[in-house]
Amino acid sequence: MTQPVGSAAAARPIVAANWKMNGMRRDGRDLAQGLARLKLAGGELACDIIVCPPVTLLFELRDVLQAAAIALGGQDCHDAEKGAHTGDISARMLVDCGCHHVILGHSERRANHGETSETVARKAATALEAGLNVILCVGESEADRDTGNALDVVGDQLKISLPVQGSTKDIVIAYEPVWAIGTGRIPNAAQIGKMHRHIREIYKATKSGDVNGLRVLYGGSVNAENASDILSIEGVDGALVGGASLSAEKFWGICAHYGE
Ligand code: PEP
Repeated sequence: MTQPVGSAAAARPIVAANWKMNGMRRDGRDLAQGLARLKLAGGELACDIIVCPPVTLLFELRDVLQAAAIALGGQDCHDAEKGAHTGDISARMLVDCGCHHVILGHSERRANHGETSETVARKAATALEAGLNVILCVGESEADRDTGNALDVVGDQLKISLPVQGSTKDIVIAYEPVWAIGTGRIPNAAQIGKMHRHIREIYKATKSGDVNGLRVLYGGSVNAENASDILSIEGVDGALVGGASLSAEKFWGICAHYGE
């Protein structure tokens, strides 16, 4: 039987799709079915695949994804277990819909909803408590990069966003430079490699634990054409993909890097 994502196969690379606020029910079904077909026909990959659709599609897509051993994730959750939080979704609700994962601290949440790293840490603690694996996003702005502050900014974000709970088994970091998201611009290989090494050091210092097995994904304008170059950089353990994940073929083209 295929190992479910987020289980003991903890150190496998991950390719995760963030559909953001895209997809009516029919589009979502078509996209998930297309991806499931490609996965079932494509043979074994040396990575786990996670799809994070809008919350309206989670339950609807659960079975078709599960049948292809593609894991389901949410794009956010609240830091409270339940209660008077109109419009919000709890970690346990995500679990109830079949999710094993949740993206937290995405730069669009930080920018559009004023989420601080302290909030992200609280959300991560609640998500872990509910049994979810956390994909924790960090990344610098273009101004931070231009002024030479990228390492410090990302390091500080990570230190504060990491919850006390959790380990490399259930926390994955996604390095997503804000200026690279949806822009077609990407840092060069040296910049990505340096940041991923820095993230490992900060993780180790903050959690004072074993950093072996920590997966650090890269996110920001990854597509089927540039995937192999990016995913071959030392210290890059997969990708978080936005735009290119809205096409089953394009997303599969990224996952296929981990094929035979
Ligand atoms: C994202 O939003 O997490 C992302 C990486 O987007 P894109 O791939 O479109 O840059």
